Amino acid sequence: MAPTPPLSNLQTRDLASVVHPYSPLHKLDQMGPLILESGNGVYVRDTHGNDYIEGMAGLWCTGLGFNNEEMIEAATAQMRALPYYHQFSGRGTEPAIELAEKLKEIAPVPISHVFYTSSGSEANDTQVKLAWYYNNALGRPKKKKIISRIKAYHGVTLMAASLTGLPYNHMDFDLPFDGILHTDCPHYYRFGKDGESEAEFVARLAQNLRDMIEREGGDTIAAMIAEPVMGAGGVIVPPKGYFEAIQPILDEHDILLISDEVINGFGRTGEWFGSQSHGMTPTTISVAKQMTSAYAPLGAVMIPEFMMDALKSQSEKIGTFGHGYTYGGHPLGCALGVKAIEIYQRMNICERVRSMTPLFERRLEALKDHPLVGEVRSSGLLGGVELVADKATKRAFDPKQGVGPQTAVHLQKHNLILRPIGDTIAICPPMIIEEDELNALFDRLELALDDTE
Ligand code: PLP
Repeated sequence: MAPTPPLSNLQTRDLASVVHPYSPLHKLDQMGPLILESGNGVYVRDTHGNDYIEGMAGLWCTGLGFNNEEMIEAATAQMRALPYYHQFSGRGTEPAIELAEKLKEIAPVPISHVFYTSSGSEANDTQVKLAWYYNNALGRPKKKKIISRIKAYHGVTLMAASLTGLPYNHMDFDLPFDGILHTDCPHYYRFGKDGESEAEFVARLAQNLRDMIEREGGDTIAAMIAEPVMGAGGVIVPPKGYFEAIQPILDEHDILLISDEVINGFGRTGEWFGSQSHGMTPTTISVAKQMTSAYAPLGAVMIPEFMMDALKSQSEKIGTFGHGYTYGGHPLGCALGVKAIEIYQRMNICERVRSMTPLFERRLEALKDHPLVGEVRSSGLLGGVELVADKATKRAFDPKQGVGPQTAVHLQKHNLILRPIGDTIAICPPMIIEEDELNALFDRLELALDDTE
């Protein structure tokens, strides 16, 4: 092993003052944080002048890459015109109106109104509050439980973390809250039984969901939340027919279906929304991340007319709709959302992603020959590579070995940034990536896998 270079002044200052999310806080001193200073297209540069392909679009979010001039101009113009205003007490701004209209235009199901938040977690918290408020409006105070799934990721605020189905988001945070139920993860490779076909796996999961609903009582369950393709749980693409199998069960019990499109939305899977790529017909939708290409924080909840009517009638009874965030619908975020969607439409983003998908799939598929790779999976330009200790038995590595994080260190050496999720390496490049850049990304990933023991 090459000796670790001494930490730079910035790295030392960072460690002295900043708490890093989702990081092994006890080990950062040895690893040294990676401090970024600029971006160009799909590349970011660190403070030592090293350029990396940012193969994760930051955190699944900079769909337009790192220096889109039109976005910068839109931000500057909005900051000059009105740097802040809110949505409280019936106030508004033109960018917030325009963005809501654009979201309605591209929505995969009829949507009548948009509620703004500053993040994906807040959008999902809002979803739960809306489902509760809605059922109170309908005089169904018992119908409050929410179904989520094992390995789901819905954010980190108290409710969003409760919805999340990953151990680290619950352990020692005293979560999840009561009333949050976690059903099966639709990952056939990991959870399919020996000899079980994919169709049988789907039927078993649907039956388990039905049993859970009947056990709990459908009249106690308000909604189910699901990412069309699970992201932070390890890029898990549902088997064919999965949503088609579970949706009628939810409908039978009048359970709303919330699509968490925080990663999937805005072209990532080759359609505007992941629900369109995966046979899901949601009642409501959460969006964030690529909505502004992450040039400013913004989230939103898209709701249908019948829910809006209920919100109005309940707020009439109570006197107000008591929910809202200071920065929800921030004019900077909304102006950037309007501009990002305008650029996506002009670029034919879904068509572009679909045209890059065969190369993405081909290069992923080729990784299956590598001795460490157990499964590859993808939807559009969202992919995952699962590393295993034994390909034949699918035996996973002991988590203490940290094979995913080890690979990430090698990736960085080869000037590529990807995200290890346990032993799955997630790939989610900016959607503007060109063919030669995508090939370079996979070339570097192959080198890093060769370096991994
Ligand atoms: N939902 C999904 C599917 C996500 O992937 C994320 C973040 O990665 C969130 C919600 C939470 O979003 P935020 O980090 O903006 O709160």
